[in-house]
Amino acid sequence: MIVVMKVGSSDEEITGVIKRIESAGLKAHVSPGVERTIIGVVGQIFPELQDMLEMLHGVDEVIRVSKPYKLSSREFHPLDTKVKIGGITIGGKEIVVMAGPCAVESEQQLLETAKAVKAAGATILRGGAFKPSTSPYQFRGLGEHGLKLLAHVKKEIGLPIITEVMTPGEVGMVAKYSDILQVGARNMQNFNLLEEVGKTGKPVMLKRGLSATIQEWLLAAEYVLAQGNEQLILCERGIRTFETYTRNTIDISVIPIIEKVSHLPIIADPSHGTGKWYLVTPVALAAVAAGADGIMVEVHPHPDLALKDGAQSLTFANFQQLMSQLKSVADAVGRHVAGYAVEAEP
Ligand code: PEP
Ligand code: MN
Repeated sequence: MIVVMKVGSSDEEITGVIKRIESAGLKAHVSPGVERTIIGVVGQIFPELQDMLEMLHGVDEVIRVSKPYKLSSREFHPLDTKVKIGGITIGGKEIVVMAGPCAVESEQQLLETAKAVKAAGATILRGGAFKPSTSPYQFRGLGEHGLKLLAHVKKEIGLPIITEVMTPGEVGMVAKYSDILQVGARNMQNFNLLEEVGKTGKPVMLKRGLSATIQEWLLAAEYVLAQGNEQLILCERGIRTFETYTRNTIDISVIPIIEKVSHLPIIADPSHGTGKWYLVTPVALAAVAAGADGIMVEVHPHPDLALKDGAQSLTFANFQQLMSQLKSVADAVGRHVAGYAVEAEP
């Protein structure tokens, strides 16, 4: 349920509504807008509540929300959420590019990649230290040593980092090193993990589950938001369909859908979304054309030697090419690539 306050309603009137909601055993979520304040009601709504709230001073109307997700919905929170990582904003005008290897393999591999992606205009370095693997026989990451390498390279190169955290117990450790906590597709519905990352207050990126509906994804987001952490980014990374030519089927339409139904920023991962390096650039361009706030791309100095996901990793040269094409698409949709102008256009 949403309480829409009248234009120019006073602080006392807003507080009056919040108190009434709380005295009914519910939670009030206040979202100040440009013109009017919106107060979301979270909890078990009972039939008389609408009449009770409509009677209060300063209330314009009370609307029932039909969708099961609330905190992540645009109805509750009409303005776009902007996620801040140092000087970078995700969810504004800029297109933010996160790039780096699938897995951190060595200091040299990470350092070389970080330099190359930064020079090409990426503003966030990705790299997995804890790798979720479908098969236990694949490389599963360097663990905390990998986190230390990420922190070291961050210091050397100056790019903030994003890395995955797989278990609730490791959230504290990963949060010490990483600027953004990534929750992977396989953990989208690990509700204990979602609550733990929510409690850190750090930016979180929630990838779409392997076969998650949009509603399931937004309900998962709700677990993070319910901890009072609104620094949340969604990432479309492809879903499972009957098609086997590609590793996953990336859902481009989900980008404008999320923009319509949610205030959360959304980025696309064309690497996992396709599984094939030569599909990464065209799909990245399509995602940005469709309104994505950024992309996450796997890049490796020698994709053929990569310990993980080499087939979908770009070489440095291919990544550079992607970045220059991305700039044109961003311009065409009235946005611009963060970092690119600074680095590539002196
Ligand atoms: C990754 O980004 O390294 C990853 C494992 O992705 P996903 O969770 O989307 O499979
Ligand atoms: Mn990968």
